[in-house]
Amino acid sequence: MILTLLGAPGSGKGTQGRRLAERLGLAYLSSGDLLRSAISRGTETGLRAKPYLDAGHLVPDDVLIPLVCTELLAIPQAGVVLDGFPRTRDQALALDATDDCAVDTALMLEVPDDVVVDRLASRLMCGDCGSSFSAVSHRPKREGVCDACGGPLKRRGDDAPETVRHRLAVYHESESRLAEYYDERGVLLKIDGNAPEDQVTEALLKATETLARLPLPAPTFQAAPAA
Ligand code: AMP
Repeated sequence: MILTLLGAPGSGKGTQGRRLAERLGLAYLSSGDLLRSAISRGTETGLRAKPYLDAGHLVPDDVLIPLVCTELLAIPQAGVVLDGFPRTRDQALALDATDDCAVDTALMLEVPDDVVVDRLASRLMCGDCGSSFSAVSHRPKREGVCDACGGPLKRRGDDAPETVRHRLAVYHESESRLAEYYDERGVLLKIDGNAPEDQVTEALLKATETLARLPLPAPTFQAAPAA
């Protein structure tokens, strides 16, 4: 089973994606975490991706798609919750065209922009496992230390206000076409991501069950147009 979470930066995809994966016994895969790990290891992919992350631009597909698809195909579990991938219609087409990687359910977390901007201004992220905390509303038990793995908590460079504004603009530019694509396939559900965290998790689980019960139309794939 492949679930993907759609939503603006700061909409809770990381936190909810980890919870959903744990509750459903699936793996969790975040394209942002994969890229940050490649950057910190200084791989060729990381070196190519870094300027895009720093500026809040989307990483080009020829760098990103092989990175995510290689990881995805290596996952031994029954399925995966994807966070941050696909982000564009072309990425969705590429994923659906990869053997056994068609998305079964796309869950979109809807959160107003001003809420997202506030959340990102106080976000702290674990440098080791990628778990998110807030310096205001979801403080770690020990200051500067991740509750989940004990790793160091830091602010993300791309959570600076100017970069956040750009990331939101990038998100809104591609969001409607991506949502439309999954809606046409009958696999999209929108969830209020501005509710308390536990309620969002329950709504996501319920949505997943609802979609799993619907007879899915067989996906029809077209190759992504050449760039
Ligand atoms: P995230 O951790 O999901 O907020 O992603 C952080 C950054 O990684 C984004 O601002 C992009 O620069 C890059 N990125 C993550 N996922 C993708 C994707 N699917 N396509 C292109 N760039 C991505």
